[in-house]
Amino acid sequence: MKLGNEQIKGIGFEYNITLFQDFDGLSNEILQLSNLTNIVVVTDKNVAKLYLDEINKELKKLNLPVYHIILKPSEKNKSIDRVKKVYNKLASLGCDRKSLILAFGGGVVGDFAGFIAATFLRGIRFAQIPTTLLACVDSSVGGKVAVNIDKGKNMVGLFYQPVFVFAPIHTLSTLPLREWRCGVAEVIKHALLSGNKKLVEALNTTKTFKNFYLSEEVKTFILESVRFKASIVAEDEKELGKRAILNLGHTIGHAIESFTKYKKYSHGEAVSIGLVTELVISQEVQNLPSVVTQETVGTLKKLGMPYKENFSMEDLIKHTKYDKKNEQGNVKFVLLQKIGEPLWGIQVEESVLKKSWDMQRKL
Ligand code: ADP
Ligand code: ZN
Repeated sequence: MKLGNEQIKGIGFEYNITLFQDFDGLSNEILQLSNLTNIVVVTDKNVAKLYLDEINKELKKLNLPVYHIILKPSEKNKSIDRVKKVYNKLASLGCDRKSLILAFGGGVVGDFAGFIAATFLRGIRFAQIPTTLLACVDSSVGGKVAVNIDKGKNMVGLFYQPVFVFAPIHTLSTLPLREWRCGVAEVIKHALLSGNKKLVEALNTTKTFKNFYLSEEVKTFILESVRFKASIVAEDEKELGKRAILNLGHTIGHAIESFTKYKKYSHGEAVSIGLVTELVISQEVQNLPSVVTQETVGTLKKLGMPYKENFSMEDLIKHTKYDKKNEQGNVKFVLLQKIGEPLWGIQVEESVLKKSWDMQRKL
């Protein structure tokens, strides 16, 4: 059953992002594509165990050869070292320029399979089938694909748009709580950046994670997030300007992840603390009313997200310098003037960073 959709239309690309209850409808989406020779489902072990039979049943309707590449889960396997093996596998399966890759899983699978699709035979078609809240509301939309190298996450990649995004939301029913949280931080980020009333309201009415995937709010989270992100990406696919606003909370968030060696916090949890800190910086530099920070902290608390951290700002500042978004060593922030009014590319003095960090500690 189709639950909603949004179209994304930029310079040289146009595709649909559709929310479905389950996999029924996927073969119809694929049928819209012309001249397919075969389909390669790229997924990870956990998702395969839970949903491979189900997706296969739907894909059978197409009468095309369907192959599977099942990756080890987790970010550390999204490495450039694994890429060659997958290229060889695709070649040995007889994949050609008319093959379709389905990136079936969370953000890790989406990034990795998207990178493979973008580069194999100079680029073959791929579609995103996100199964985590984070992938639904964020990473499956916008065409950023990448792999990791020793020096850092997502250091090698491209902008490469999928042919469609198909979100089967009943898969969210098995998502571990920690993975939920990853997505929630990005939803709150979208609400702050856009001021979208439906998103803000859905965040206010959400009380618990229990059976969350069945709620109306989760549909709003996904559809409105996608709507907002699609509008930004359509304007600035390659992040030469406005797309940078999507990094709200991420300058500090990435520094926290890097400082804690990607162990203490998930991406969403680090971004959660990053959002609060960057709102406090916005109070200092852009006169953002403090009530916005207080309300955001209230929402984060209610949803069981971390919102403050105690380690020293000196350590953290070092790690903000490694961010790949930096230009000539300058750390740039996205700050808010008001809800829905972000500014980007702003340099912030160390004294302000330290003061803001101390303020968030005391929240
Ligand atoms: P993201 O980057 O979207 O947060 P990952 O691709 O790292 O997510 O996936 C997070 C973890 O959740 C992985 O271990 C993955 O196998 C698992 N996972 C993905 N989708 C589901 C799902 N629908 N149900 C249960 N586990 C899932
Ligand atoms: Zn993020």
